[in-house]
Amino acid sequence: VIRVKDLYKIYRVGETKVRALNGVDFEIYKGEFVAIVGTSGSGKSTLLNMLAGLEKPTKGQIIIGKTHMEKLTEKQLVAFRREKVGFIFQSYNLLNTMNAIENVALPLSFRGVSKKDRLKKAREFMSLVGVADQEKHMPNQMSGGQQQRVGIARALVVNPQIIFADEPTGNLDSKTTMEVLRLMQRIVREQQQTLVMVTHDNHLASYADRRIRIVDGKITGIETGGRSALEETDKTAPEAQQPAQME
Ligand code: ATP
Ligand code: MG
Repeated sequence: VIRVKDLYKIYRVGETKVRALNGVDFEIYKGEFVAIVGTSGSGKSTLLNMLAGLEKPTKGQIIIGKTHMEKLTEKQLVAFRREKVGFIFQSYNLLNTMNAIENVALPLSFRGVSKKDRLKKAREFMSLVGVADQEKHMPNQMSGGQQQRVGIARALVVNPQIIFADEPTGNLDSKTTMEVLRLMQRIVREQQQTLVMVTHDNHLASYADRRIRIVDGKITGIETGGRSALEETDKTAPEAQQPAQME
């Protein structure tokens, strides 16, 4: 569903140029769970933001489905983001003036869904991610894990073809991280959606179907094969296991 060709992003900071992405090519297939892995500053967020249509490349092509992203006008880009993709942010990005269910229902209002149907759908997704009891809570009245789940429900509520997640578990403890990972893996498998997750964490990335490794804005390798978070028992924290048991 995603094709990236010879992609560059060069930021200008005063007199200097920062090559955040330096010639990147890859493909992502429908229904895949792909991790983009690299250290801090390697260009992961830059890449994800361009895939999601939040930033424009300096050079190169991104083709999503049949859409050539560089040919879209600003207005078409907004429509593309609202209709085709879901974005999960590391910092949750919930609107502080709205309670949990209003946050989840918001993307549906851009689609002209009636208020009754918006709340019904939002409720459905909130229970899917396990925060059904938080409906009336404002973001600052929820834990980080609960806010992240609300953020995931909001990203999923429009059934996007592709879900982009930037360090979705970056602020969570290891138990909640595994729960969120399991949740995302389950949802993607059940709905045939495509999940692209950025992370600096190799353990987390090992659950993806493929890993795209990036160093200094360049791809250094692509690995195939991932494990299933769904088959691991809820109680066992992965880092508590012996390496021999992890295979
Ligand atoms: P992290 O794991 O810390 O989030 P990252 O891999 O997501 O890192 P990016 O945010 O993509 O890294 O940044 C890649 C490079 O581009 C860095 O050197 C960064 O300083 C630079 N950069 C990112 N955004 C901008 C910007 N808006 N203006 C100038 N330089 C930027
Ligand atoms: Mg980043």
